[in-house]
Amino acid sequence: MSTTLDLIVRGGEVVTPKGLRRADVGVADGRFVQVAAEIGDSAKETIDGSGKWVFPGIVDAHVHFNEPGRAEWEGLTSGPAALCAGGGTVFFDMPLNSEPPSINADALNRKRAVAEKKSCIDFALWGGLVPGNLDALEGLRDAGAVGLKAFLCASGIDSFPAVDDLTLREGMKRAAELGMIVAVHAEDGPSVARLTAEQRERGRNDARAFMDSRPVEIELAGIRTAVDAAALTGCALHIVHVSCPEGIAVINEAKGRGVNVSAETCPHYLLLSEDDVLRFGAPTKCAPPLRDESRRRGMWREFSEGAVDTVGSDHSPAPPEMKTSEDFFEIWGGIAGCQHGYELLISEARPRIDELFPRLAAVLAANVAKRFGLAATKGEIAEGRDADFCIIEPVEERTIEASELLTRHRISPYAGRRSRARILQTVLRGMTVCSSGKLTEGAPRGQFLVPKR
Ligand code: ZN
Repeated sequence: MSTTLDLIVRGGEVVTPKGLRRADVGVADGRFVQVAAEIGDSAKETIDGSGKWVFPGIVDAHVHFNEPGRAEWEGLTSGPAALCAGGGTVFFDMPLNSEPPSINADALNRKRAVAEKKSCIDFALWGGLVPGNLDALEGLRDAGAVGLKAFLCASGIDSFPAVDDLTLREGMKRAAELGMIVAVHAEDGPSVARLTAEQRERGRNDARAFMDSRPVEIELAGIRTAVDAAALTGCALHIVHVSCPEGIAVINEAKGRGVNVSAETCPHYLLLSEDDVLRFGAPTKCAPPLRDESRRRGMWREFSEGAVDTVGSDHSPAPPEMKTSEDFFEIWGGIAGCQHGYELLISEARPRIDELFPRLAAVLAANVAKRFGLAATKGEIAEGRDADFCIIEPVEERTIEASELLTRHRISPYAGRRSRARILQTVLRGMTVCSSGKLTEGAPRGQFLVPKR
């Protein structure tokens, strides 16, 4: 008997971690109900997928949308809109750039209320682990925090200080008891401070000096500190924005001895290198900094071999006046790339589609949902999951224009860059939220996602 579905995508190349498959995708009541060579049923709405890729909706576990408190930097309207135009259907917001920072349940609940009102896509929220908030961790867990974020070096936000060794260990011990994962920004704080002071004493304040103040070694030292604390406490650990193959090697070694640790990298460590920092300056400033070309290529190798668990944008914008200074150390760090970073990864992966597209489906969606307890509903184009996906068109070549940006400030390291893919449409729970780079009028509001522990 034929039934009427809400939506069918016909004849697209459906991308899953297992491979690509030409199939029809059927949606009813906001969920995938069928993925099959041909769906005989009719539907209220049909999308012609022929010649296009149907990717799972991107689950971006690492953004800084800065609201409440610093909405003029980005905000929970523009940030989700930009991510959604870039194929995203879920974001996890970091705890530090909002005011108050999400270091207790009250602050987290306040952010949740704003996001529920404004965000066009679903979301989860990180809580913070900072000196002095150990007794707030249980409240954060009960309020639905997806995990806890800690910095081993200065975060740049005074109300979100770095953890000391004791706080890290005690925090991870509590987190393990609470069933929470801890995400760590792993650059050794005292080393960053000392090398920065040394550059300043030499009178250097250029882009090269900034990169020299944060070499690979201090990232590796940070990763080792975090991994050792995870080994000691049994806490699940997620190392954010790993910038170099040596960092992945430290994590692989830890995995080998049974430490529960995952590695995230960001599109910019795969797409940009230190030459771009010297050429383009402020829009490419981030920490850890972009690395040399051989390390950038090395990160593709790690990704293609499956050693990268997740890719998150680390979208971290700031107003234009904070991105301009003669002194490169004074420029606010952070790459605002959530709208085009994923499209560019897909574009770069085109020469090896069969090998790399399934990997992308894993690191951009399936692995993220699994690692953070959302796999019952999110992360894959599979029967029973939320119908979150995006339709992507292969193009001969196009130039990314700053005018496409839906971010609050049109600053992106990818403006002017050539791409061989275009994200046509993003669908959340069966409803189109963005089409040809424009948000749908009356699109649904995002829902707060609580991890299953
Ligand atoms: Zn970040």
